[in-house]
Formats: sequence, C-alpha cells, structure tokens
Amino acid sequence: MTTAMMAEPRGGFHELALSPPLMEALERAGYREPTPIQAAFIPEALTGRDVIGQAQTGTGKTAAFLLPFLNQWRDENRPGPQALILAPTRELVVQVAEEAAKLSPHSRCRAVPIYGGQRFRQQLTQLQRGCNIAVGSPGRVLDHLSRGTLSLQNVRYVVLDEADRMLDIGFRPDIEKILRRCPQPRQTLLLSATLPPPVLRLAQRYMVEPLNINLSPAKVTVENIRQTYFTVDEDRKFDLLLKVFERDEPRQCIIFCERKRWVEDVYRMLRKHRQRVAAMHGDLPQSLRNRIMQGFRDGKIVYLVATDVVGRGIDVKNISHVINYDIPIDPENYVHRIGRTGRIGADGIAIAFITPEQGDQLTAIEHYINKQIECEEISGFQTYRTRVRPDGDTPRASQPVFGRSIKRYSKRV
Ligand code: ADP
Ligand code: MG
Repeated sequence: MTTAMMAEPRGGFHELALSPPLMEALERAGYREPTPIQAAFIPEALTGRDVIGQAQTGTGKTAAFLLPFLNQWRDENRPGPQALILAPTRELVVQVAEEAAKLSPHSRCRAVPIYGGQRFRQQLTQLQRGCNIAVGSPGRVLDHLSRGTLSLQNVRYVVLDEADRMLDIGFRPDIEKILRRCPQPRQTLLLSATLPPPVLRLAQRYMVEPLNINLSPAKVTVENIRQTYFTVDEDRKFDLLLKVFERDEPRQCIIFCERKRWVEDVYRMLRKHRQRVAAMHGDLPQSLRNRIMQGFRDGKIVYLVATDVVGRGIDVKNISHVINYDIPIDPENYVHRIGRTGRIGADGIAIAFITPEQGDQLTAIEHYINKQIECEEISGFQTYRTRVRPDGDTPRASQPVFGRSIKRYSKRV
C-alpha cells in the first residue's frame, strides 16, 4: 500500500509520535506505514477531540480508532473499562477485540469482547479479571448494564464502529441508552465506510464539534475488485458455481445466499464436490460461528457459504472470490459483500449470478455503484432469456421460470 507518508523523512508511524511500547506492538504486527485514514485520523484523535472518519472497507479503520487510546493507556489499575467500542455484529466485536490484543502495548492492557450468544458468566469472569477496553454489541452491553455487571463510569473514550449501521433505526435507541450512561467529558469517535448526510447530522448530536475526515471516494466500490456477472437460470446456479471453481480455483471464497435455508442447501451440495467447505448464518450457535470464522481466517476453510452475517467489516486477507449466488435486494449490501475481497493491496474477483428476471435488481446495483458490471459466459450456461433492462427494449421472459421468489420471505440473516 502506498501512502503519501512514505516520501517523508523517517516516515511511517514515527510521524505520529506514538509511545515506544506501541511502536513495538506495531512492529510485531508488521504494520510499517499508516494507511491514509490512519495518517489522517490518528493525529486528530490524539488531541482528544471528537472525530468522524470515513474510508472504504479494508483501509485499517480499526487500528485508526484503537491506536489513540492505546497510546494514552497507562497501567493505573482503574476499575472498569476506560474505553467502550460498539460494533454491530458479534464477528466484528471479536475481530476488533483481537486487533486490540494484537496492538496492545502491554499484557495488562486488556480488551474484552462482549456479545450475545456467548455465556454470560464467562464474560463476567473476563470482565472481572480486568478490562480496559470493552468491545461490545449494543444489546449485550445493555444487558450487562442493566444487571450491574458492567460499569461505564470510568469510560472516557467511546467509539462507534460501522457508524452508519449503528445509527440506523435498528440500533439507535440502544446506542442512545448506552451513550447516556457514558460520563462527560469524553472523547467520541465514529468510523464508517460511508455516512450519508442525514446520518452525519444525527451523529453530531452525540459529539462535540466533531472533525469530519472523509477519504471515501464518491464511487463506492473498491477499485481493485473485478466485478462480473453471469446470467443463469435458478436451477443451474449450482452447476455454474462448480464450473467457476474449476476455472478459477479460488484461494478463498465466500458464497453469499439471501436466506439461511439456501445457505444450508448450497452448503450440503458443495460439500459433496469440494473440501474445506463451511456454512455460516445467524441460526448457528455462537461458539460454532466463532470457530468457523477462525477457521476461515486461518485458511483452513476455503469455501464459506454465508448470509449477510459476514457481509460487513469482516476482514480475511486471502479471499480471492466473492460469489453472489443470490444477489442482494439492497444494493448497499452488494458493496459490503464484495468489499470482503480486494482488501489492502490484494486483487479480488466478485461474481454475481443473475437470473433472467433479476435484470432490474442488477441495474439498481449498477446505478448505486455508478458502474456497469461486465457480463461473462461459460459455455453451456448461456440462458436464452436475455437480461431485462428498464432502459432497453429486451422482452421479458415469456415463460415462468423455475426458482424461488425472493419477496415471499422476510429477511432474517
Ligand atoms: P476497515 O475497518 O477499514 O474495514 P480493518 O481495520 O479491518 O479495515 O483493516 C483491514 C486489514 O488491514 C486488517 O487485516 C488489518 O490488520 C490490516 N491493517 C490495518 N492497518 C494496517 C497497516 N498500517 N499496515 C498493514 N496492515 C494494516
Ligand atoms: Mg472496520
């Protein structure tokens, strides 16, 4: 990754004047240069002010918000966390806590992940053993607060990761309750790939004169991802999937389906043809989800069939392919999904399977990313009903198509 910082004398993280133990931790982690968002965000956050940071997925926002806290951490044995980091999914909570452990300047500086699905007692023990950074999902943090097992009275540093999601209507009431329990004065930081203007205005209610650092390009998808689609009939998707694997032999691949049941179906079929396959969706027990994510991160799992539970923020470096086996109804999810590949520096391939009647959905995605997605073909998989574009005059499929009607199901991943 090239950054403007490289040209400067000494360069790298030295410019940020971080503490020696933290510099050592960065060296152990193999972080040599700050990413652009880190170079822009960290110096501002180090002054103690409130900062909003927007940058694409995979650009190192986690370290951007962790390092300023870790830099000021002192071994003072204060009870209860001094930093509270809120993230929307269990997987992200675990990932942020792991990054905190990796960058920790001292073994006594501890981050504890707090999320639903894990045994309460176990979390309690961890919290009691000492916790400097509480990393939690809003629901579970509220749980602990109402049971009196977590106190925020020493919190001076609050982060909302994936802030666009945290401030949307699903989470906002919880977030507001939690923030009311965090004492003033405090430093509040928000990180996100994008923050639409209304959310940005809302965010300012929780912050004091925040500085807004926006490195997200207007175009929402990451440049180094090659995006293509196949037109394919619903009942031939699986055969096409096998063909694509034969052709590309992915290093690591996520196959996204819209529903949990479909994840299970594809998983069961794929297991008969390929090794190192796993399935991931919101109905699996949390301990299993953790193990699967770990296996995927370690490269033991090559093919992960999943719902959008892994669509956001999850970082696995080696992913070469993202297959939208079912394209998402919400174009924004498309961007989150394909952002799983092409992480820092690496190239990625995103392939979407489009049934002939999903032309409109594909067009909506193309409008959203402001780019045409390239059509591909593999011999034997041409469908004879061509894509329907609202702006073209291609006739709609005349015969009923075998398959699943997306709108019949309510979305639960
Ligand atoms: P984001 O939150 O912006 O999507 P992450 O914080 O998940 O991105 O970081 C993406 C990946 O980049 C992680 O694997 C992280 O360890 C790595 N990373 C972060 N900062 C650096 C850096 N300065 N140098 C090298 N790798 C980095
Ligand atoms: Mg992130």
